[in-house]
Amino acid sequence: MPATARRPSERQRAERRHADRERARHAVEQLRSTEGWQAWLSSRRHFRTYSLQNQLLVAMQRPTATRVAGFRRWLELGYQVRRRPEAVPDGAWAIRIWAPCPPSRQQLEQWRNDGADPANAPHTFYKQVCVFADDQVDPMPPPATPVPMEPPIRDVDGDQLAPLIPRLTALAGELECTVIEEPMTGHQHGYLDPGSWRIGIDTRLSANGKVKTLCHELAHVLIRRERQPEDPELDCASEELVVESVAYTCTGALGIRTDGYTIPYLASWAERAELEVLERTAGLVDRLAQRIEDAALSDPTLKVSTSRRDSGELLRARRGPPRR
Ligand SMILES: [Zn+2]
Repeated sequence: MPATARRPSERQRAERRHADRERARHAVEQLRSTEGWQAWLSSRRHFRTYSLQNQLLVAMQRPTATRVAGFRRWLELGYQVRRRPEAVPDGAWAIRIWAPCPPSRQQLEQWRNDGADPANAPHTFYKQVCVFADDQVDPMPPPATPVPMEPPIRDVDGDQLAPLIPRLTALAGELECTVIEEPMTGHQHGYLDPGSWRIGIDTRLSANGKVKTLCHELAHVLIRRERQPEDPELDCASEELVVESVAYTCTGALGIRTDGYTIPYLASWAERAELEVLERTAGLVDRLAQRIEDAALSDPTLKVSTSRRDSGELLRARRGPPRR
């Protein structure tokens, strides 16, 4: 057996686990800066079905990625992973994300032979595995037929997302809110009146603009209506950061172009916040965004071909550790 195929020693495994944890911690640290927060939201548009930890790992290691897959999976899709460029240091080419490692057949068999005690059942653990991004691969020559990768991105002032408005209005109804369209003035495009649970949307907006505004106001509603014990305490400013972040990443995930749109980040808050609070705040953004995206994309009769759904299979195959 060649030396490289030897099983890693206990010490090597411990070092690897330590490196995995350090990488994950570092990925959360990036949320402290305006650029880091925005890079995560931007990256999340493409990886919304991933766990938060994996979204952060991809955003930190390859902010330009719009999809990732393992070496063999890329081959199945008709692409070849490029060789590591010389300028890139060894170990910095592959992207590392968490992947589940379920117990092996032998482990399960052994456990069954030992009496199948539920307290000793072998469990799935997570370790970081190597994946590569769409901008690290080349299409393979014929007869391979590489799957198309270019996602269509819509313009924010367009009307293509009009079919999503009834879906989002239905979500508002589920949350016991009414949505009314009314003419507004100045920079105001929407509001939530928590007394009457009414969401107002500016009639002047395009359909895509209404979708974006609905995402923002729905996030305000969800924060109040579906509060979870792990949610961080929010003051007015941090709530606005959360809902704007949700609107940004949701509209991106739904296909609306978001370049040039910036988040009113709270740099002074983020610098002082405990790492754990930062992570919980990001977790809240991710959960609210997913709730809204799921509602917007749930009706299969709607012909909105958001590109991100096409890559769903690819993405789901590589989920990270469960959300906490
Ligand atoms: Zn607001």
